[in-house]
Amino acid sequence: MTGPTTGPMAQPTTHATETRAVHTTAEVLATKTVGAYQHVSLVAPGVGERSRPGSFLAFSIGDGHLARRAFWIHRVVSMGGHRAVVEIVVEPRGPGSRALAGLPAGARVEVTGPLGRPFPLPRDPARCLLVGEGYAAAALTGLAERLRERGCGVRLVLGGVDDPHVLEPLAARRSVGQVEVAVGDLTAAVLRAVPEVDIVYAAGPVATLRFVAEAVTGSEASCQVALERPLTCATGLCQGCPVPVLDDAGEPHVVRACVDGPVFRSGRVDWAALS
Ligand SMILES: Cc1cc2nc3c(=O)[nH]c(=O)nc-3n(C[C@H](O)[C@H](O)[C@H](O)COP(=O)(O)OP(=O)(O)OC[C@H]3O[C@@H](n4cnc5c(N)ncnc54)[C@H](O)[C@@H]3O)c2cc1C
Repeated sequence: MTGPTTGPMAQPTTHATETRAVHTTAEVLATKTVGAYQHVSLVAPGVGERSRPGSFLAFSIGDGHLARRAFWIHRVVSMGGHRAVVEIVVEPRGPGSRALAGLPAGARVEVTGPLGRPFPLPRDPARCLLVGEGYAAAALTGLAERLRERGCGVRLVLGGVDDPHVLEPLAARRSVGQVEVAVGDLTAAVLRAVPEVDIVYAAGPVATLRFVAEAVTGSEASCQVALERPLTCATGLCQGCPVPVLDDAGEPHVVRACVDGPVFRSGRVDWAALS
């Protein structure tokens, strides 16, 4: 891997603040099927330009009977002014994601975002490992770009249960320095890469995040995870997305995934208590 390095335990420090969300009516600009996913591009005034790597959007779908549904921001393409286009990756599985995936170009949908605490970025160039599984790899796309802009070496492990569930490996190879596709099981790829990096960023199912967190323990790397918990209001009011964490003294606390996360330092999460 190339790129200058920082010392051991490089801690990402910047841009860790919550982003300012707006609520708006978005218009579907385009929609396309790629593998197992539906990529939906939206014109959402004021949303794209506020987003940071790791931000997510909350959609109010259907007739309002569904709780808000959360989706990572995959890409932001500037169109000038407030017309940044935001792309999300939807895996159709339940009523909300199926409805969103089925929206035609020109349809309108209520959205709030960008939400959540984004990935902190390193102050100095560092060797970074990004681990993304399934649709959640969408949370890492903007992060990889920002890290490379900062002179970081970026290595990506891209996983999925099968080929259609590996998110855009060709596009990733074009934009990221080093990409390893691990279909079915990414654990060996992660174990190989962790000793060679300063910072690990991971997005995927909880079991994968826990594995990455444990792989980093005892290494010299620090680790940030983008943790998905089922959300209700997505803005911190309802307290419906508890995440058990441990403070510096090892004392347990509960915080909210939507506003205190969804990005957490992996060592802060009380993985054993996370059901
Ligand atoms: C911050 C965040 C970002 C997300 N980004 C994306 C994304 O980019 N693309 C995408 O397709 N999905 C994403 N999700 C997951 C998506 O929001 C949920 O799966 C949502 O519940 C889908 O709504 P639904 O009505 O289709 O399914 P539901 O009827 O709500 O759920 C279908 C099934 O999935 C289970 N489920 C719901 N949420 C989760 C979860 N977070 N983890 C594991 N199982 C769950 C339910 O228990 C149920 O069995 C994200 C979730 C969070 C919290």
